Amino acid sequence: MTRNPRYDILFEPVRIGPVTARNRFYQVPHALGTGNQMPHTRAAMREVRAEGGWGVVNTGYCSIHPSSDDTPLPYCRMWDDEDIKVHSLMVDAVHRHGALAGVELWHGNSGVGNRLTRVTPVSVSGISFSGSYAGWISLTKSRTMDRQDIREFRRWHVDAARRARSAGFDIIYIYAGMGYGPYQFLLPWMNKRTDEYGGSLPNRVRLMREIIEEVKEEVGQTCGVAVRFSPDELLKVPGETLQTEAHEIISLLSDLPDLWDVKASRWTVETASARFAGQGAHEPWNSFVKPLTSKPVVGVGRFTSPDEMVSQVKRGILDLIGAARPSIADPFLPNKINQGREDEIRECIGCNICVSSYHDGVPVRCTQNPTMGEEWRRGWHPEDIPNGDPEKSVLIVGAGPSGLECARALGQRGYAVTVAEARDELGGRVTIESKLPGLATWARVRDYRTNLIQVMGNVDIYRGSPLSAADVIDFACDHAIIATGAHWIREFPDVDGNSAGDITGKTVYTPDDILSGATPEGPVIIYDFDHYYMGNCLAELLHRRGIEVTLVTPASTVSAWTFMNNELADIRARMIELGIELLLEHRLTGFDKQMVRLANVHDIDAVRSIECGSLVMVGVRSANDGLYRELKSMPGEMADAGIQALHHIGDCRAPGAIAHAVYSGHECARGIDADGSVDTFRWERPVL
Ligand code: ADP
Ligand code: SF4
Repeated sequence: MTRNPRYDILFEPVRIGPVTARNRFYQVPHALGTGNQMPHTRAAMREVRAEGGWGVVNTGYCSIHPSSDDTPLPYCRMWDDEDIKVHSLMVDAVHRHGALAGVELWHGNSGVGNRLTRVTPVSVSGISFSGSYAGWISLTKSRTMDRQDIREFRRWHVDAARRARSAGFDIIYIYAGMGYGPYQFLLPWMNKRTDEYGGSLPNRVRLMREIIEEVKEEVGQTCGVAVRFSPDELLKVPGETLQTEAHEIISLLSDLPDLWDVKASRWTVETASARFAGQGAHEPWNSFVKPLTSKPVVGVGRFTSPDEMVSQVKRGILDLIGAARPSIADPFLPNKINQGREDEIRECIGCNICVSSYHDGVPVRCTQNPTMGEEWRRGWHPEDIPNGDPEKSVLIVGAGPSGLECARALGQRGYAVTVAEARDELGGRVTIESKLPGLATWARVRDYRTNLIQVMGNVDIYRGSPLSAADVIDFACDHAIIATGAHWIREFPDVDGNSAGDITGKTVYTPDDILSGATPEGPVIIYDFDHYYMGNCLAELLHRRGIEVTLVTPASTVSAWTFMNNELADIRARMIELGIELLLEHRLTGFDKQMVRLANVHDIDAVRSIECGSLVMVGVRSANDGLYRELKSMPGEMADAGIQALHHIGDCRAPGAIAHAVYSGHECARGIDADGSVDTFRWERPVL
């Protein structure tokens, strides 16, 4: 297939100082969860993006000095010459496919705790950045940098840039955003200096200018020097000569860097989930940059639509289409556009499971792309998969995310696949849950897979086909894969001997009931001990239907897990905006139709009762594994029917997030004829 000429503009080369990107697809710096400790994993994760057609592939944040230590979070480092080789591995991998390799040199300034190195953090005026999350609150505060420190700070940037050039990088970043590097010097409320680095805006910009000039002097002949800048806070500060200080800073430095990379100052804003920010949501803080410089500008916006990308370029917002999440969900996004295969793009759904991997300190995982993070240790490729045996027939029962991914991958491998789905609609839980407020993009998990499956001659799908054990045996396939999902239960486990007793049979609903159309009588209490999206989404849904809702949880905050995917603040704000009452740190101890009984989690004697019409229990999902277990108990009948193996995948195997179901379906498809035990993983080991 050939490229749609409408998208030609996306494939124009872009000059970045002395180097040229082959196209406008730019994988911006983003953490991978590997640090320097997993160089092979990291190189493979970046390489696949270069292979998929991205013009530029960057590292994640890369510390330039031990005074910038983000332990326990997974950052890379370039502290001395010993660190060069680790980076060369990635650079060579990226170069193999014709992409430019960039490194995001980073000094955390006072935004780090230096827990490992125990070096006292430095800052512009002794004021540390403060967060409200314990993991980011450092008990060690920073010391004010004197002139000698500033000279050293500049030298660390230059030394790291020289090492980066030795590693082979084509683009070298200076990070002046998100509280890092010279950013703090720019902020009038942080910079209280009275020397030449404080006071007037040119003085506050001085350090940034010096670092750019000195890094360019050192490496600018061979490497593009990029600046990553967060303007959103400074866009609120009126300027003297231009509208705001953000405008003035760009205008003062204008053509000094070879590239401007513009991003939000807060990670939670930058990575807002699809529920809270749509494609291109960053335009308000990156659209002002291009008129102030002749150098290329890159920014992100969870771009998955080539039409929106073209619009960004044609309207003069961006020169390079930056992407972190879209490049994770589909490393081959550029190639697919180039080859006229837009329909095959595995679009990011904006769920932020990838973000949670960073907080977990593990290689990035992705809901849409089950191969992400498995490129090196399992040899998984996002587009290629070994051929299987076309003589073998496989029956998959259930067409949710796990069944569909398994069918797609087995179909690609060449097996004769039949999918039986009880409902008339495909997609299982994603089809149902995508109707929750703000979750429409989740249907992309279904659509990507059904789009591919429908053109596969070797995959048949039967809707409206609930199968029994006898049906499976009658079908007489080589492999039977049970992907029948899970359901929410009404009961909840005893905790500390406190139980709500038997609450079944009363006006107690589960999320499945509500999502099937039940309307609970108000006022409704939602008791959420799942701690993810379902509790707050149902609260919003019922509230929008005009039902009074109170959300009760034993946790100290609404949807406690969502700290991990950066949604917590947005969810909290949404609950406040809607006026949904939250009752935190309370445990359900009983319910008798008109009344729920609750106890404070810290003081079980502090009990209270609240009148309500019904209770929605959002707590535990239980596997729909009855069919699997029944078949498992019939080995003779299975053998007689020629069924060689029985598998269960996704929520039917163990309830989890959608990402787990997709991964499980993919893993089953890859290993269907092999032993899929964890012993087959490769592990990175320190060399002694
Ligand atoms: P997962 O996330 O593991 O893919 P889902 O709950 O999303 O699980 O999907 C399970 C799918 O299996 C649902 O679409 C459901 O209708 C279907 N299903 C459940 N039991 C049967 C059955 N006996 N026969 C056919 N389909 C079934
Ligand atoms: Fe997008 Fe979700 Fe994948 Fe992250 S995990 S890249 S948000 S689909």
